[in-house]
Amino acid sequence: MLALYGYEEIRTPLIEEASVFGRSLGEGAEIVTKQMYRFEDRGGRTIALRPEGTAPVVRALIEHGLDKTASLSRLYYLGPMFRAERPQAGRRRQFHQLGVEVFGSASPYQDVEVICLLCRLLERWQIAGWVLKLNSVGCRADRKRMVKRVQAGLGKQASALCPDCRIRLEKNPLRILDCKEPGCQKQTASLDLSGDLCADCRGHFERVTGSLERLKVPFTLDPRLVRGLDYYTRTAFEVIHEGLGAQNALGGGGRYDDLVELMGGASVPAAGFAVGLERVLMARPAEAGRQALQRRGGAFVATVSPEQIPEAVALVEWLRAQGVAASANLEDRPLKRQLEQASKAMPQGCVLILGEDEIRQGVVTVKELSTGQQRQIPRSALVETVFEGSKG
Ligand code: AMP
Repeated sequence: MLALYGYEEIRTPLIEEASVFGRSLGEGAEIVTKQMYRFEDRGGRTIALRPEGTAPVVRALIEHGLDKTASLSRLYYLGPMFRAERPQAGRRRQFHQLGVEVFGSASPYQDVEVICLLCRLLERWQIAGWVLKLNSVGCRADRKRMVKRVQAGLGKQASALCPDCRIRLEKNPLRILDCKEPGCQKQTASLDLSGDLCADCRGHFERVTGSLERLKVPFTLDPRLVRGLDYYTRTAFEVIHEGLGAQNALGGGGRYDDLVELMGGASVPAAGFAVGLERVLMARPAEAGRQALQRRGGAFVATVSPEQIPEAVALVEWLRAQGVAASANLEDRPLKRQLEQASKAMPQGCVLILGEDEIRQGVVTVKELSTGQQRQIPRSALVETVFEGSKG
């Protein structure tokens, strides 16, 4: 999927100089102040275990001069990230992210492409029931206005905010908008957050939403979605899944046009996302109908003679496409030996025998290995007769 969209892998070290994150994420960002593992190494350097993947990718991009030479770079990473958190369901101190970054395009359609890739990946992973939330945090000037509005709106009710948000009011006011504390949510619900975007940023966002509508990618606008990091500009998005409980974000991302320059590189617009793989795994089993139909004891497609092997391959591929777990004989060996080996490997399983007659008549001979019983079943009824009844 990543190759279809033109992404190449980049691997960055698990440790970086701590300043890589301080400079990029914002010294006030909680991921830096509260969650980053930071220590001094033997040379007295301040090192961090990477809490996220974007800043290291940008550091590498600048170090290798790609910010000046490449017109467009599409990069993806996959690996562990570290955050000092209190572990709970869906929140770990070491977890894995798959992330993509595209550098060199300011087009709103690039945002759309990145969002589509995340949606396609979730579909490929057979996750259903996710919701795409979308917002625009505007440019730096827009954000300044938004910060002022939040500070003015909440300043008088500061005592109604949670202790963390009282600090955020000074250090990272926009982060208050995604605080989960009911008291804070009540305070922010009454804030009017519309109208802070300049005409350019509004136009950009309209093209993003228009294109997503055209592509029939469903989304929900959420003016409170700010993603808590300093480096976002314009489009911000998050995919949530209610089945995950309190930690319901599967992944998120957006645009960060100022980040490369902020980290000492050229002025290169960028966009990307990161998705949490442990949460992807948590969201998967909750969905029905995705488990392979495992015939108790196993299933094997045998052939009477080698001429039927191509047909056996087609049958077993078709079965897998129907969600049935099975394997097939691919070797030139007598049926008797195939049956002996199948009985030994899966004494409670069943063998689907394909011979010339079966192929001509469009049927399969199904042999139950535990009883030796045989019956012929039309192919059209194979899945429901032999597999669906024996689910689990
Ligand atoms: P973030 O970089 O905070 O936007 O995180 C992107 C995604 O990584 C989230 O949507 C989660 O799926 C995942 N994630 C973030 N923090 C953790 C954590 N502590 N444990 C497990 N997954 C996490």
